[in-house]
Amino acid sequence: MSGRLPLLEDLGEVRGKRVLVRLDLNVPLVLEPSGRRVVADDFRIRAALPTLTWLLNRGARVTACTHLGRPAGAPDPRYDVEPVRALLSEMIPGVRLLENLRFSPGEKKDDPAFVASLVEGQDLYVNDAFGVCHRADASVVGPPRFLPCAAGRLVQREVEQLGRLIEDPERPFVVVIGGAKVADKLGLLDALAARADRLLIGGAMAFTFTQALGFDPGASLVDPSKLELCKALLAKTDNILLPVDFVAAGPAVELRPDSGIPEPWGRERARETLDDIRICGRSIPEGWKGYDIGPATTEMFCHVISDAGAVLWNGPMGVFEDGRFAAGTKAVAQAVAACAGRTVIGGGDSVAAVNRYGLSERIDHVSTGGGASLALLEHGDLLGLAALRESPFTAVLDEGRAAR
Ligand code: ADP
Ligand code: MG
Repeated sequence: MSGRLPLLEDLGEVRGKRVLVRLDLNVPLVLEPSGRRVVADDFRIRAALPTLTWLLNRGARVTACTHLGRPAGAPDPRYDVEPVRALLSEMIPGVRLLENLRFSPGEKKDDPAFVASLVEGQDLYVNDAFGVCHRADASVVGPPRFLPCAAGRLVQREVEQLGRLIEDPERPFVVVIGGAKVADKLGLLDALAARADRLLIGGAMAFTFTQALGFDPGASLVDPSKLELCKALLAKTDNILLPVDFVAAGPAVELRPDSGIPEPWGRERARETLDDIRICGRSIPEGWKGYDIGPATTEMFCHVISDAGAVLWNGPMGVFEDGRFAAGTKAVAQAVAACAGRTVIGGGDSVAAVNRYGLSERIDHVSTGGGASLALLEHGDLLGLAALRESPFTAVLDEGRAAR
C-alpha cells in the first residue's frame, strides 16, 4: 500500500460543506403481513453512525448513498431504500439518503456520467462502505477523482485492524479457515501461508486438501479443479494443520438447518438412525459426507488457538446451521473468544456463527465486509482505498503537509 489513507480529519473545515457519504446500508429486509418492508437487522446502520455523527456535529450537510440488494440496474420496488431511509431518519435525523445506487446501470460500470451526477453539487466525499471497497463501482472509485475525499470511521477501523494482521501480526499468528468455497479462498490461503505461524483448515475446504494428501473424501464437497493447487500449497508450506477426524453422515441423512422455522407439514422424514452419523478418520466411507471436524481435530485446533498472539478466523468448521454438525464451529468460536491474543473474524457465516453463540462481544474485531476483508488480507489493498489515496486532492494534501 503506498501513500496514506486520508481520514475525516484531513477534510479540513466541513461546516456548511455538502458531503457525499458512500455507506453500505445493504441491510436484510422482512416483509410484514401488511406487505410493508421493514429492516430486520440494523447492524449496518448502527455501524455508519460514528461517521455521520462526526460530520453532522461539525455542521456538514450530509447526503448518504448506498446499494440495497441486487436490482438489475433499473428501478425495482422490491429494492427501493424507503425502509432504510425511515429507520435512518429515526436513528439520526438530518441525513438525506439517495435512492438505491444500483437502480442506475452506471453504478456497476463506473460510468463517468453517473459519477458526474453523484458529485454534482457536492463539496467533499467520504467512503465508509467497507463492504464494497473491493469493487470498481461508480460510487466507490469515481468521486475521489473529482472531490477532496476521506475514509470514514468504519473503513478506517477495518484497515487498521486487518492491516496489522498483514503487516505486523502478533505472534504466534494463527489463521483458521473454513467454509465451503475453496476456489474463493485459495488465494487468501496462499497469501497467508507465508505470514501465519499456523494455518488451520476446517469446513468443506478441508476435503480438497485431504484428497490432495491421498485420503478418500467419500461424497464430501470437494473442488477437483483445485486439487493440484492444494497439493502445491501443501508441498511448499509446513505450517498447515488439516483435520485428523471428521463427523460424517450417511446417505440417509438430510441436513436440517435449525433456523427456528417449522418444517412444512406432511414432509416425509429421512429414515435415518443414530448410526447414520459417525466419527471417521481422514478417509470418509463411500457415499458418506463429512459435515464437521471431529473431536480430536477440535481439541487440536482449540489448543493451537488458545496460545495465539493473534487469530484470524474465516469460515465455519462445519455445517453449523444444523445443530448435529455445529460442535466444531462452536468450540472454535469459544476458543477464539477466550484467546488472550488479538482476535479478528471476517466472513458472513463465521460472523453469524459467533453471533449465534453470543460471543461477538468477546472478539476484538468483527469485520463487516466478507469479500472485502478477504480481498484486503489477500492483496493488501482495495480499489476503493487506492482511489482515496490516489485522488489528486489527497496528493495536494500530502504535499502541503510535507512543505510545512
Ligand atoms: P464465510 O461466509 O464465513 O466466509 P463460507 O460462505 O465460505 O463462509 O461457507 C459457509 C458455509 O459452508 C456454511 O453455510 C456451512 O454450512 C458450509 N460448510 C461448512 N462445512 C461444510 C461441510 N463440511 N460440508 C458442506 N458445507 C459446509
Ligand atoms: Mg458465506
